[in-house]
Amino acid sequence: MIMAFLVGTMLMVNSDVSAGDNTPFLTGITSAGDFSKRQDDHLSRAKEALDKLVNVKGKRTVENTLTLYDDILTQLDAVANQASLLESVHPDEATRTAAEHFSQKVSAFGSELSLNRAVYDALASMDISAADAKTKFYVEKTLRDFRLSGVDKDEATREKIKALREELVLIGQDFARNIRDDVRTVTVTDAKELEGLPQDYIDRHKRDSAGVITLTINYPDAVPVFTYAKSESLRKRMYMEFNNRAYPKNIAVLDSMIAKRNELAKLLGFDNWAAAVTADKMIGSEKNASEFIEKIAAASKAKSEMDYKQLLARKQKDIPSAAEVNPWEAGYYSELVRKSDYDFDAQKVRPYFPYDEVKAGVLEVTSRLFGVEFKKNTTVPVWDKSVECYEMFEGGKLAGRFYLDMHPRENKYNHAAQFGIRNGIAGKQIPESALICNFPGGIAGDPGLMEHGDVETFFHEFGHLLHSLFAGRQPWIGISGITTEWDFVETPSQLLEEWTWDAKTLQTFAKHYQTGEPIPAGLVQQMRRAKEFGKGLQVRQQMMYAKMSLSCYDRDPKLVNTDELNRNLRERYTPYKYVEGTHFQTSFGHLDGYSAIYYTYMWSLVIAKDLFTKFDQKNMLDPGIATKYRKTILSAGGSKPAAVLVKDFLGRDVQFEGWKNWLEN
Ligand SMILES: [Zn+2]
Repeated sequence: MIMAFLVGTMLMVNSDVSAGDNTPFLTGITSAGDFSKRQDDHLSRAKEALDKLVNVKGKRTVENTLTLYDDILTQLDAVANQASLLESVHPDEATRTAAEHFSQKVSAFGSELSLNRAVYDALASMDISAADAKTKFYVEKTLRDFRLSGVDKDEATREKIKALREELVLIGQDFARNIRDDVRTVTVTDAKELEGLPQDYIDRHKRDSAGVITLTINYPDAVPVFTYAKSESLRKRMYMEFNNRAYPKNIAVLDSMIAKRNELAKLLGFDNWAAAVTADKMIGSEKNASEFIEKIAAASKAKSEMDYKQLLARKQKDIPSAAEVNPWEAGYYSELVRKSDYDFDAQKVRPYFPYDEVKAGVLEVTSRLFGVEFKKNTTVPVWDKSVECYEMFEGGKLAGRFYLDMHPRENKYNHAAQFGIRNGIAGKQIPESALICNFPGGIAGDPGLMEHGDVETFFHEFGHLLHSLFAGRQPWIGISGITTEWDFVETPSQLLEEWTWDAKTLQTFAKHYQTGEPIPAGLVQQMRRAKEFGKGLQVRQQMMYAKMSLSCYDRDPKLVNTDELNRNLRERYTPYKYVEGTHFQTSFGHLDGYSAIYYTYMWSLVIAKDLFTKFDQKNMLDPGIATKYRKTILSAGGSKPAAVLVKDFLGRDVQFEGWKNWLEN
């Protein structure tokens, strides 16, 4: 351990980013047993550092205390991230189970650490008057987090807090597993029901020996049905299955998650979980979160009503007596409005977005913007043969590594997300990160044509990934990588989406899969115009989710009935009626991961729209402003409060106008 301690301090001043531990995380791991051994090893190293920290004699210093504390976090970070990733994606069940086990173990360790009075006292008694600004900020933030975790409560209370946290890990795992495992299907016997769907979609879904065509509720199967299928019956059947994933199992799981979190919040001295979880966020309190949701909902009300009128009018062209639009019709009629009122057909852009070209484009665009190089490395071990590994180089030196696991597979996480694998530390270890998505492609003979929305999602997740890689070079792991306030984390991701709406950017990679012709600027222009339609509805829908997330956690759990919330909030924020027999909340994974703070997306979007006003929208590939953005915001990671990072970039505080102009555009 003394080696790690020495290595840690020595390398802190070493700016060579490729020094230190750059070994790919799966090196030497080919079985659940290997994985478990590696994680046990990390945990014993954490334990050793902890013992050492508690037993330091004499005056507490950054060198003899904070270094050890950061070392504990480094070990825990590896276990927590790698377990969370592999339990979500590993094809081998034994490894997934082992990973779940280590998620529990590391969370118990972390929870115990956050309640360890001796560690808190040790950190609090360090003399940091001569330390640099980053170290000071790190220590202050850490001490505050300790207090928010309940370190100052009596022994009995701390025991209860610990037990509750451990229970919550198990509950969260049940919740995620139920979502992951419930891949429902919709069957089609009359091929006429596929009318309206793209030809490559129809080609991909052949009849089985019994003459049945099976569609799953996974995105590549479901989204085109909602958007293009002429058959209302097919769309409705898909809607019912899609909105019942993990039902009924997760109703009880969710209830117990909500109750336990409330109990935990009370022990920590808060009125409810929403108050506890917002205390260390940019927004500051659950009252502010609630006000923010109402402010956004009010700002988008008129626009949303106009959107709905347009949708209904379009439906009435087909069905003159129609008095309302059903939720399973919203995507379909939106598409038709875009065709008739905006002269835009989404199917016309799909041929320009074959998965392989889009992937190459994401890499090329971001390497140009941020001055880094990405190289595929086929020798790095991966968890499934379909996974690709890339390495990021800067000035010829290895600076980060990432994995792309991009297509659906059995027992795999079924949304889109960036997963951290190993946070970076300057001179000590390079960051590793992964994108887990469920895009078309990856099937021999299938061009893997993506919707423009998929392309946006790819850029979004890649924005998170770049944040994790660029920020992975801070001197301490506790302020490295994505350790900023949580309600800021969706800013870099949503900002990067902007490049998917720029014709010049798209033309560098969006080439027709049959003719190789770049996407015509006029088509992008039409797509941009068509995008204006539906924004009001989308914002209100987001506020429905945000209010749902907040309402599960801002009151006495006895008063929370998630079905009722779903029904009431849907009807309050969106023009659509609740559909009997649907339970979208059972697969609303954010209710665990983000708990009360789903508002984060819109909060971050307000910031992203403001940041975007500083970019040259005629020359989006200009690295000048991108470099400033990277330096002031992305690379800074969690070394300053997010509001300060934003001010460093903007030269002023955030304003609401950028977002408002976007909405009312
Ligand atoms: Zn995101």
